Amino acid sequence: MDQVLHYRTARGGDAISYGGYSYRVDRRLARGDISWRCLQKGCPGRLQTDGNFSEPIIRGSEHTHAANEDYGLIRMTIARCRERATTENTPIPQIYQEEANRLSGSASASAMLPVFRSIDTSMYRARRTRYPRLPHTRAEIVVPESLRLTDAGENFMLLQLDDNDIMVFSAPSDFRDLCHASHVYMDVSKQPQPEKDFRLQWDNVFSEGFLGTQE
Ligand SMILES: [Zn+2]
Repeated sequence: MDQVLHYRTARGGDAISYGGYSYRVDRRLARGDISWRCLQKGCPGRLQTDGNFSEPIIRGSEHTHAANEDYGLIRMTIARCRERATTENTPIPQIYQEEANRLSGSASASAMLPVFRSIDTSMYRARRTRYPRLPHTRAEIVVPESLRLTDAGENFMLLQLDDNDIMVFSAPSDFRDLCHASHVYMDVSKQPQPEKDFRLQWDNVFSEGFLGTQE
């Protein structure tokens, strides 16, 4: 039996597909019911549902175009790609692939799904709403409290000097392990005094008292 598919538009509005046609909200009715209008421009097709997007009743005139079951499925798949990009940290290409796989039961629907390159921009745009604006200068960098901790709850922002001239990202337990190593190999890109730079960071870490004692 036909089922009402509900999803969100790019602007966050409600949309549904039913019986091969797709609809947006026409108006909200008394008692919470919703009147929907066909997405096709100029089409007089109307549908009515209750507030939970179920109990569909066909209203208005006949649609002026043919029904296409795949069309609603594709719209919902694209909407779900966008929504997952906003709510999950799953890599964008992986989300697309997973959602595309869900269509694999229908060859005709799979063929209609836009290629990744044509919807990735809107997915990345949705993803950006999860993150704060990028700072323009180093001094503007503010690392929120939630991003200073490892999964184990250990402080990962070991050192942050004024104006963020030096930032050390490491958990105290990492440094404790390092203290017990017989050899320390390092990659210092700034020349010409790598030992001095490293020493400076190392001493700062200890002098701030993060580790307690220096061995
Ligand atoms: Zn229509």
